[in-house]
Amino acid sequence: MQLIRILTNDSGASKLVWDAGDGRSFEASAFVSRSHDASSHSAGGVVCISSQVGCNVGCRFCANWRLSKARNLTHNELVEQAIVARTHLPTLEQVSVTYSGMGEPLHNIRAIVSASNELCESHGFAYASLSTVGIPNGIRKLAEIRPSTHLFLSLHSTEDSVRRELIPSKFCFPIKEVLLEAKVYASITNRKVKVSYLLLPGVNDTSRNATQLAELLDSKFFCVQVLLWNKIEGMDFKRSSRQEADCFVARLVELGMPAFVMESSGQDIGGGCGQLADSFSAISPRTTSK
Ligand code: SF4
Repeated sequence: MQLIRILTNDSGASKLVWDAGDGRSFEASAFVSRSHDASSHSAGGVVCISSQVGCNVGCRFCANWRLSKARNLTHNELVEQAIVARTHLPTLEQVSVTYSGMGEPLHNIRAIVSASNELCESHGFAYASLSTVGIPNGIRKLAEIRPSTHLFLSLHSTEDSVRRELIPSKFCFPIKEVLLEAKVYASITNRKVKVSYLLLPGVNDTSRNATQLAELLDSKFFCVQVLLWNKIEGMDFKRSSRQEADCFVARLVELGMPAFVMESSGQDIGGGCGQLADSFSAISPRTTSK
């Protein structure tokens, strides 16, 4: 792997691009977290790394939906990404690593677990977290082999039909099944699972949607992070305003569901949530939807 590009913005966020050595590329970002939730990975730096080159899931709102088949990144590629990305942060008391870049981390669970162990035990990372679309047997396995991992679950809707529109993939499992595994994970780890909810105007952003979300989730096991969509060329989703996201969160909180807004720091350099991709790939992108 070879670092081929580094982009930075005024807020200090960085995006790094590596040549994977096989005609493809992968990306990571580093930023100081702006989460408004004191219990989340907020007070410090975050390096967000890719777990795969490409992704086989194909979420409609993500830069990776149109990429060709994924290959897993190796243990060494994961560790090096995190260590190099961290050098682009200021000196901070706490830096965590999150597998929220390209790829579905639970499709590369062995390497994720071994890399997380090395990063936390030998390189001073505070903890590791991962963001999954919700692979039930992967969540179960993670609970068995590395329950110290913080889990983020991408839900985005309380209705299977809407969720399938956003994640039109065989890896989009029924909500009931996914939440059941996530609940078990929260019980085993004694730590709430953070449910990611990408707020999309006209899709899932009404007060009724917030009520349904609060009714679906048990606040004993879950809290909600509301995400704003980061612009990706060629996609026609709209981005909610910060005020709309705050209103959505306020409704959840009013109904007893802990929630907060998570804003990406590197969206202007293509380093925000959903933007990390195989930008320099020489391989043809996926041409048909899944
Ligand atoms: S959001 Fe995650 S799982 Fe979905 S296509 Fe993008 S990288 Fe893959």
